[in-house]
Amino acid sequence: MAEQTKFKIVLLGDKDVGKTSIILRYSLNEFSERTSLTPISEQYKKLSVNGRQMVLELWDTAGQERFKSLETHFFREADAAILVYSVEERESFHSLTSYWMKELIRYVHDDDMLPILVVGNKSDLYEEASETVSLAEVTEYTNAYELPPPIETSAKTNHNIQKLFNLVATELYRRH
Ligand code: GDP
Ligand code: MG
Repeated sequence: MAEQTKFKIVLLGDKDVGKTSIILRYSLNEFSERTSLTPISEQYKKLSVNGRQMVLELWDTAGQERFKSLETHFFREADAAILVYSVEERESFHSLTSYWMKELIRYVHDDDMLPILVVGNKSDLYEEASETVSLAEVTEYTNAYELPPPIETSAKTNHNIQKLFNLVATELYRRH
């Protein structure tokens, strides 16, 4: 059987944490200050890991996350998940642990759990925000779930965006 080259990656998290912006930055190297109501769905991005060509198919939510009503189809056959919160909004990290992670597990309940990366976006707003989420507390959470360490990104400044997807791809490479 041929090696798998195409991988479905789902981005989950509350509205406004920057999911669409992360995809836009990674796939087109663009950023907009305005919330786009239009989701970027099924955006493809090619990369190679150790010489192996891979295609990441990035799945964005279309605003349904506001109503916490994603359909099964969104999760079906996902190969990896990126769970996003915003470092400047504690509530978004709370939702991640109390809702998005559970939702993900409920849909994918596989013996061989897919790679899950926890991402704190809007790292550029650390200084301005009054109640930030610290990387230390998120690390406690990821350790408890035996997940890879969390990563902080900024779709605005492009901080760690490449690194995030390289980590996802490397994890997929190891498993497939
Ligand atoms: P989504 O609802 O999770 O898809 O969030 P969006 O990508 O639509 O972003 C929501 C808002 O946050 C928009 O106004 C973006 O410009 C802004 N935003 C997204 N990422 C960042 C970031 O890394 N830093 C800053 N300062 N703003 C961001
Ligand atoms: Mg969006």
